[in-house]
Amino acid sequence: MDLLEYQGKEFFARFGIPVSPGGRGDDVEECVAIAEDLGYPVVVKAQVHVGGRGKAGGIQLASHAEHVRDHAGNILGMEIRGHTVRGLWIEEASDIAEEWYASFTLDRSAKLHLGMLSAEGGVEIEEVAERDPDAIARIHIDPTDGLSDEACLAWVEAAHLDPDATTQAVSLLSKLYLAYTEGDADLVEINPLILTTDGRVHALDAKVTLDDSAAFRHDWDEYAATQHRDPREQAAHEKGLQYVGLDGDVGVIANGAGLAMSTVDVVNQVGGFPANFLDIGGGANAEVMAGALEVINDDPVVRSIFINIFGGITRGEEVANGIVQALDRVDMRSPIVVRLDGTNAEEGREILAGHESEMLLSQPTMLEAARTAVEMAATAGDRSP
Ligand code: GDP
Ligand code: MN
Repeated sequence: MDLLEYQGKEFFARFGIPVSPGGRGDDVEECVAIAEDLGYPVVVKAQVHVGGRGKAGGIQLASHAEHVRDHAGNILGMEIRGHTVRGLWIEEASDIAEEWYASFTLDRSAKLHLGMLSAEGGVEIEEVAERDPDAIARIHIDPTDGLSDEACLAWVEAAHLDPDATTQAVSLLSKLYLAYTEGDADLVEINPLILTTDGRVHALDAKVTLDDSAAFRHDWDEYAATQHRDPREQAAHEKGLQYVGLDGDVGVIANGAGLAMSTVDVVNQVGGFPANFLDIGGGANAEVMAGALEVINDDPVVRSIFINIFGGITRGEEVANGIVQALDRVDMRSPIVVRLDGTNAEEGREILAGHESEMLLSQPTMLEAARTAVEMAATAGDRSP
């Protein structure tokens, strides 16, 4: 789960990381009141779940109430990379001497935590990595050892930050590492981490992704309430389905996460593009199947649907009946290909054969079914204007 900047700063502050004082406002007058309390100048900052707000005009300095009123009025409702601004964060403006970059995340291939630190912050780190890879100091940390003061110091020195700020940087980064590990984050990023003109090191931005699997250890309800979710994922979540939205046009339904992933892969393998990952879990009854079909049917880019079921405890004829009954309930836009295998697959296929039509086909193998689904998506695509 991704946090908004103001939530990330609250999260950082709990671990003792210095951030600017500020307040959150949802309308113009609320923002003006916050600014009046803080004193000028202030920064008016759009709160959305994407970066690049500065470039998009979503970050503005204001030196009096009228300024705040203008900027807040302009930024509220603004679209930033597909996200509508619904809230603002007003904070005391900082005088910036230098902008740096700092982050911790998991390096999956190394199976270690990875810290990145650069004296070139304020721009996208991918840009720095491409232009001048040596400008990023990296540190791998074994989670069982943690980040020692010595290692942290060596890392800061390797990044060539202002030497006068070394002690503060080491202290802040140690706290950031704790926020990342004890706070159960998958990513913590400060860009820019600043040195102010009066010599203080300070987090000017905050990007935090929390590990959802650790939610039970924390009180994250407030963060969850402001989550921006793919509307398809939201609908699936409400139906208790494991769904991940993708960009293609072949809707995928499978039972079991492993089979669902293989289904996504096989669609790709035969030259198609999956619209989603969807695991309906163990029970493929009419209720669950209808719910899954509704979610996929509501996705306007879907042009064909591939249902891939391996009967284990769930028997083939139950699955087939579930699909047939679900089709009575949902008015489908796209044709469906079913691959049914496992327990009582024969019985199941017979039931499907009895209902075969332009909208419902059955194929004996996963590969054949994937090919048919991809062809169907392509033909449906040709038919549209
Ligand atoms: P992002 O564009 O979404 O990453 O938003 P940031 O919070 O990182 O802000 C973008 C840029 O705005 C920063 O790199 C700074 O250059 C500038 N900025 C943000 N806050 C302040 C501030 O308090 N004072 C000054 N002078 N500039 C700021
Ligand atoms: Mn930033």
